[in-house]
Amino acid sequence: MYRNILRHPGPTPIPKKVQLAMAQDIYSHRSSNFVELYREINERVKPLFGTKQDILLLPSGGTAALEAAAVNAVSPGEDVVVITVGAFGDYFVGICEAYGFNVHKLAIEWGEACTEEILAEFLMPLSNIKAVFCTYNETSTGILNPINQLARVVHSQTNALFIVDGVSCIGGAPAEMDNWGIDILVTGSQKAMMLPPGLSLLSVSDRAWKAIEENMTPSYYLNLLSYRHWAENGMTPNTPAITLIYGLSAVCDLIEEEGYEQTIARHALMRDMVRAAMRSLNIGLLTSDEFASPTITTILTPEGLDLGNYLGYLKKEYHLDFAGGLGPLQGKVFRFGHMGYCFPSDILEAVSLMEAGLQDFNYSFDPGAGITAAQKVFLNRK
Ligand SMILES: *Cc1c(COP(=O)(O)O)cnc(C)c1O
Repeated sequence: MYRNILRHPGPTPIPKKVQLAMAQDIYSHRSSNFVELYREINERVKPLFGTKQDILLLPSGGTAALEAAAVNAVSPGEDVVVITVGAFGDYFVGICEAYGFNVHKLAIEWGEACTEEILAEFLMPLSNIKAVFCTYNETSTGILNPINQLARVVHSQTNALFIVDGVSCIGGAPAEMDNWGIDILVTGSQKAMMLPPGLSLLSVSDRAWKAIEENMTPSYYLNLLSYRHWAENGMTPNTPAITLIYGLSAVCDLIEEEGYEQTIARHALMRDMVRAAMRSLNIGLLTSDEFASPTITTILTPEGLDLGNYLGYLKKEYHLDFAGGLGPLQGKVFRFGHMGYCFPSDILEAVSLMEAGLQDFNYSFDPGAGITAAQKVFLNRK
């Protein structure tokens, strides 16, 4: 018998309260029970997005919601900018190219963030940009882009919509969609939202609704005007992920119980604990502190360690499950997820087991150094 310690950047562990909420008897999505639930969810999720706009619920993975944002807001042949700092930024590139948008790709080296200066310079010679797409938290590298600053640049230099992928950080990183000027913000269920995969959440600004009303790209299942129309009556156009929406209500209970600010602060604390631990073990980090993600940390392969064997061993011996590197980072890094239903005690546990694995692999380090450093950060929390 064992307990799997899932430290991936999605899917992530699901709280018992959420599991139990999802065990309720099913009811129809055309019933008054559902309408009441949807209306309640709509209000309670708004603080996570930092918006007064309605929250639309799609029965899909995050990628479908990214596609919905693109296809509803932009028409084929129109010019768009896609900022990509890793594998998930490349999703937006792929979606925009698939629909025949004229893509201006701003590709940043993996492990780096897109800064205001870089974006300002890139936008300078461009005109008639319909939308700028950007990943808030890049899950492949552990970069949190300075999305509020980028929004400011977009709106000061262009009339473009700013469309943001918040899939791996909403619920774990601050978001002020309305104040920052994000036009469409998307997230998914299985990352910081503590739910199984299969539900995505999306919100649209007034400006973006206007563009969507005028847009000519055909769509059916992902048509957001249809979602908006049905949402007026507390429903979705087709059968929603009813069970996951029960779970979402319990997620709101948990976040409200902890306090939204405290939830965000807990993620920042866990980020700092992991980073301090790795530094004390002389293990490198891919990203700078300035742009380090609060939900996932990308750790460089310790000098001389066979990463594949080490990760496999941690999983087999200690049931500690980290995610490997993606694309060009495969074999060079591993990813330590600390989002959603994850606490400082989980960081201490994972660092301790990592150290045990390093000892088993005869890696040269000062045993206990990582744990001590993480605990020091914890004890010095505000
Ligand atoms: C996981 C993820 C996605 C894709 O979500 P799916 O549910 O796998 O479709 C998109 N963007 C980011 C940043 C992600 O972390």
